[in-house]
Amino acid sequence: MSKSRNANGLAKRIVRQTSLKQSTASRLAKQAHVYLGSSVVDSSDPHQRRLEAYIAHVLADGFKDRQLNGALLGVRAAEPEGQSVKLTLESDMADEVLRHLLPRFDHFYGGVRGVAGLRIRGSERELKLHDAASSAHVTVTRADGGHIHLPSARDGEVLLWKRVPGGLSHDERQEAEGWTDSRGIEDLRVRDLLLSRILRCPGLVNSTAEPHGFANCYTHHAGDLVIEWCCGDTVEALCAGLLAHGFADDVPRANAVELISRHSAHLGDRTVILNRHESCLYGPNAEDVAASIRMDYES
Ligand SMILES: [Zn+2]
Repeated sequence: MSKSRNANGLAKRIVRQTSLKQSTASRLAKQAHVYLGSSVVDSSDPHQRRLEAYIAHVLADGFKDRQLNGALLGVRAAEPEGQSVKLTLESDMADEVLRHLLPRFDHFYGGVRGVAGLRIRGSERELKLHDAASSAHVTVTRADGGHIHLPSARDGEVLLWKRVPGGLSHDERQEAEGWTDSRGIEDLRVRDLLLSRILRCPGLVNSTAEPHGFANCYTHHAGDLVIEWCCGDTVEALCAGLLAHGFADDVPRANAVELISRHSAHLGDRTVILNRHESCLYGPNAEDVAASIRMDYES
């Protein structure tokens, strides 16, 4: 099919699924690299989607702007595996992914960090990270097939995943309830759906970190995930790519995508916030920044 017919097909799909005008949808569709890519495969299990969303949220907050080799959340590839998903981790970030995810009580922080209730099974080449309270789990491997090293306790930390292998500690239970029953979040179903899709679309989200090897991600509260970057794809091109892969499927049409400006978009009523700086934030310093991130990881 010709490029323009493909772009028209995507524009129609965008109009069907969002409240964007035809002219805006066409503009977005023309910037897409893929027009009608296979849609992201969701788990039909709400516990599974909730766990994946929690994982994406904790990783975004953990890594912020400290990535290596363009892996925004430390994930290179995601492959559905039954209800679950298998994540291939960026080798240089894999140990750090586990450090962020496995729950620990941090006395300096004054609470639980990581994914409350997350436990491990399996070998260091293929770890299963599972939820102590449901059948939800994800499998992780390193892109180079190497061992993933499990984190040891840092000053002021109690490793809850090690200390309470079978169930949840009291503090974790409270923390987990906060994630499941977050007050003030309009639609938990949409949050879980979109954040789990962020985890399942690494090829798209990593495009933000590609130009420099790192980008910025963070959260304001339990209901959102922000991605900020400069250089590379525009916000509209990333939106078009996400929509081409069905990112907004099953999200109420009115809230699916809101273009705030050419440099900012909200998906799912501010669940996923995309901001791209108009000019490069790093210029000639980008390589030094990447080198300092690498040094941090190696120390
Ligand atoms: Zn830049």
